[in-house]
Order: sequence, then C-alpha cells, then structure tokens
Amino acid sequence: MSTGSFSYEREIAVEAVRQAARLCVAVQQQLAAAAIEKEDRTPVTIADFGSQALIARMLRSAFPTDAIMAEEDAATLRDPANEALAKQLNSFVRQIHPGATIDQVCNWIDYGNLAEYRDRFWTIDPIDGTKGFLRGDQYAVALALLVDGKPRVAALACPNLPHVWENDADRGWIFVAEEGEGAIRQPIDPSIERPQQTPIGVSTTRAPEEARFCESVVSEHSSHDTAQKVADMLGITEEPLRVDSQCKYAIVARGEAEIYMRLPRPGTTYVERIWDHAAGALIMTEAGGQVTDLDGRALDFTQGMRLEQNRGILATNAHLHDDLLQALRRARA
Ligand code: AMP
Ligand code: MG
Repeated sequence: MSTGSFSYEREIAVEAVRQAARLCVAVQQQLAAAAIEKEDRTPVTIADFGSQALIARMLRSAFPTDAIMAEEDAATLRDPANEALAKQLNSFVRQIHPGATIDQVCNWIDYGNLAEYRDRFWTIDPIDGTKGFLRGDQYAVALALLVDGKPRVAALACPNLPHVWENDADRGWIFVAEEGEGAIRQPIDPSIERPQQTPIGVSTTRAPEEARFCESVVSEHSSHDTAQKVADMLGITEEPLRVDSQCKYAIVARGEAEIYMRLPRPGTTYVERIWDHAAGALIMTEAGGQVTDLDGRALDFTQGMRLEQNRGILATNAHLHDDLLQALRRARA
C-alpha cells in the first residue's frame, strides 16, 4: 500500500489499465489471429477505442475535474458508415459494462480530448505498440498522471510480457510507479498465485561492454543503424532486444537490459508524443534509472501533446548514462 500523496490516483490508475488490458486480451484472442493474414487493422482499432473508453470512464468517475490527453477521438465511430465497427466495439465493452450503449462509449472516449498543457492532467496511450499487438507480440496500455509538468503516477500494463524475458512464461504484468515511492510490478490477473507488488530496480552494470540495449522493432521509429554504431563504440556485443511499445522501459526498469535508445532517423521531422513516454519514464526513474533526450535534456512534458523541446530518447540504468550521451555525440559528429 502506498502512503505517498497520490495513493488514490495510483490505485485508480492500476484498476483502469487492468480493466483496459482485459479488453485488449479478449480482442487479441478473439479477433487478431484471423486478421493478421488479411492485414486487417480492425482488431487494433477496436482495442484502441475500447481501452481508451474504459480508462477515461474510470478516471472521469474518480476525478471528475481532471482533464485527459489521449491518442484517440470518437469521430470515426460516430460516422454512420462505421456502424458495424461501433457495434463490434460495443460488444467487447459490454463484457465489462453490460449496459453500455455506443453513444456512451463514444462519450467516454471523448473525455480524452485535452490538447493543451494543464497543471494537472492524465495521459493515455490505449494501445502502445499497435504493430506488436497485431503480430500477437508485445504491446502496452500506458497511463500517467502529470502534475506541474512532471509524471507523478504511472501504470503500464504489458499483457504479453513474460515474467522473465528469456523464459516465455507467466505473461501479463502491470508496472506501477509513484513519484518518491519506487516502482513495482504486479500480475495483471490478481487471482493468479504470483507474488503481488514486487519492487523492481535497474541493473547495477557499470561496464558498457557488458550492457544490453533495447530498441523498437520498427526501424522507422528508431534508427537501428545508429544504435549499432553506438553499440560498437561502447564495445557492446550482445544483440539488441527489439521490442514494441513501452515494454522497453519496463525491461530496463526491471534490470534485464541497461539501455533503451530511441534514435530519430536522419531527416525525420517526427516529434515524440507524451503518452509514449510519460508512464515509462516515471517507472524508469523510480526504478533507479535515468531518462533524458539524446542531448541529455530532461523530458519536457509542458509542451502539449508532443515533446517539442526534446530530440529522441535515452533511458539507462543511470550508471551508463554519461557514456551513452558521449557515444551519441560522437555518432552524430
Ligand atoms: P515502438 O513500439 O517503440 O516502435 O513505438 C510505437 C510508437 O511509435 C507509437 O505509439 C507511435 O506513437 C510512435 N511513432 C509513430 N511514428 C513514429 C516515428 N516516425 N518515429 C518515432 N515514433 C513513432
Ligand atoms: Mg504509442
């Protein structure tokens, strides 16, 4: 039990991502396998909307005056042309809220319409790592509370993440952090007999050549070439862990890798979205790690939906942070 200043927010955040993860797992089991062959994105669309609806509904009822910045809006769903999609979505939401109407679900989704910075607001990534979700691989449901520009509470559900990366068993964990209170993990399904609420911490490795790094599976999201160059400079010989979504933050936070690099491809104009980093970054720092951009600047969450003042992401176990920043500078030169 947390005794921090945000203990109620934290409790609600965990329940919200747990409920959303249940919906995502149901959608993945019932729809995704059939859709992969056809390259049909319907399952991820349904899970995305459903996850956001459930989280936003729970936040609104617990904290009626809090604003929410989320990735999706319900305009597509309200379009009569998408009635079949809306009905399918509603049937999944009804497994959790039996009486829910399509109209209600659309309203819940649109609670997440905040676009501008506030002193206090929540940010949701209903399904982070959509490509991983469609492949039946890693994805995450990410939720963070930001107060005065900083993440204070984070809940990150990783429905397909195994207990230990190398051993494909005991999947489904929620990583939770509260500012000043450390980071923990707990099973998504509380009825499963596993240790509840286990503290997590970053690796103590100080030798760069012994480090492992994580990066995106999708090379458009992060340059695999530059990462390899940096790894070579530091004498890193282990193969990178390529993982979709903020599960990368969880893997470094629990000490299975030392580094997560997100390196903009040369020439890209993409600016990182806050919901892709707010939860993961707090979990990392509360686990003893360090998170900055590639120039060593703190992530600035006061700019609206995007990290306008930052370039790329570097998350490490803290011990290796300076080595990495230096290598990144040399890689650019
Ligand atoms: P990952 O699974 O780590 O590769 O990241 C998934 C996230 O990448 C999605 O939530 C998107 O918001 C984000 N994304 C989309 N396009 C880009 C891009 N060009 N560069 C970096 N991130 C992107
Ligand atoms: Mg995302």
